[in-house]
Amino acid sequence: MQTYFIEFSYLLASILFILGLKGLSHPETAKRGMHLAEFGMLMAIIGTLMHHEIMTYTWIITGLVIGSLVGLAMGVWVPMTAMPQRTALSHAFGAFAAALVGISEFYRVYITGGHLERITMSALGFEVMLGALTTTGSLLAFAKLQGMVRGTPMTYKGQNIFNMALLAVTISIFIYLIFVPGSMALFFTMVGLAFIFGLLLVMPIGSADMPVVMSLLNSYAGLASAATGFVLNNKVLIIAGTLDGFSGFILSILMCRAMNRSMTNVLFGAFGSVATTGAAGELQGSMREVSLEDVATQLAYANKVVFVPGYGLATAQAQHAVRELADVLEKRGVTVKYGIHPVAGRMPGHMNVLLAEANVPYSSLYELEQINPEFPSTDVSVVVGANDVVNPDARENPASPIAGMPILDVDRSKSVVVLKRGQGKGFSGLENPLFFKPVTGMLYGDAKDTLTRLVQAVQHA
Ligand code: NAP
Repeated sequence: MQTYFIEFSYLLASILFILGLKGLSHPETAKRGMHLAEFGMLMAIIGTLMHHEIMTYTWIITGLVIGSLVGLAMGVWVPMTAMPQRTALSHAFGAFAAALVGISEFYRVYITGGHLERITMSALGFEVMLGALTTTGSLLAFAKLQGMVRGTPMTYKGQNIFNMALLAVTISIFIYLIFVPGSMALFFTMVGLAFIFGLLLVMPIGSADMPVVMSLLNSYAGLASAATGFVLNNKVLIIAGTLDGFSGFILSILMCRAMNRSMTNVLFGAFGSVATTGAAGELQGSMREVSLEDVATQLAYANKVVFVPGYGLATAQAQHAVRELADVLEKRGVTVKYGIHPVAGRMPGHMNVLLAEANVPYSSLYELEQINPEFPSTDVSVVVGANDVVNPDARENPASPIAGMPILDVDRSKSVVVLKRGQGKGFSGLENPLFFKPVTGMLYGDAKDTLTRLVQAVQHA
């Protein structure tokens, strides 16, 4: 009876994970998808706790309480803008758990004088290796995104060759252990090297590429969990780990595509270490500052306005203010749309999440391919704290490091207003010729503050 219940809860959990992932693929169903996946996780935990092999619940409950408290604190106190680092930390925890399970299983078999079958040792080695490198890799990603460590790529001569050599040694030990699993010293050498490799893997990657790396690490953590499932003979872990592993991998590929970069370039290209001066070519003209009153008048008498949010919207937490301005404009009969770049902000779907929080209707959000043809008929494009995703160099300057990256063609609108605090660069560290074009007016200040003042000004225009 107990076995049936466990099997049933695992089956239900697996179905809920798949439905959850499906739901997460669209903003309208994302919340429901998340709840389904949460419920699935609850079922998986309940099923696992029913196992008759469990001799005492003391440590399990201790872990459950500590984990829940940490999770709760992270959920309550970590701001939306710090979500990428928070995710990196969660990956580190998950991967460390997978590595520890593998290490303890190896140790248990070793001290009881048992023998690990080749297939079990393969899964265990895979789990420990991926778990260990994901742990340190994610911790370094966290430190870079949190600003605790320099965010720019850390490179040195022969780095890629050294990393590849270290990986080759680690994998060789792993293969040796599959055939001769009895050496504790070699096993721990492999674990140690994998921990070091995680750091070396992330070191040369700049913060701008960190989201791609993180979803790749997420994919590794998922595959490590799937391997744990094989070691422990736990079906739900195999299914959940595989889903996690492959969805993370697909997400990495999608992000690379949105930036027109290859995965190899992200992992080995040390993007962001390039000298940025001159990368934008000779910048023509100068930046033209505009007044709040001028912008308010332009907006109030426009037919069509497109808001283009970027990372600055997130840091300023300006999503409610932009919605208020859109409401005021719509009341005046202006058509308002939002142009959403797939990598605007610092994580996939960043802008969708923020705008959904401010109840911006999904029907007003337009993806890059949908909105780009509309810019020539747009009276005013308002760039809210975006930079790289509207950099025309990506389209026009083949020498630019972001050449070929699809961008939002705001410079093709009749007028562009850029809301930003000053001369700060985007995450790529590149100069943006858009700000120097005659069509563009710069309205300086914190995005939330500027938008709030614009609401007042438009009402009186
Ligand atoms: P961005 O290029 O990083 O530019 C953000 C701009 O916002 C800055 O130039 C900054 O200028 C301004 N800003 C910051 N705080 C502000 C505030 N409080 N009020 C007003 N403006 C503010 O952002 P983006 O255009 O969204 O581009 C995203 C970047 O991240 C791209 O390079 C993309 O490739 C990279 N990336 C994203 C993802 C993802 O999943 N989303 C994944 C990988 C890489 P000031 O300092 O002058 O204010």
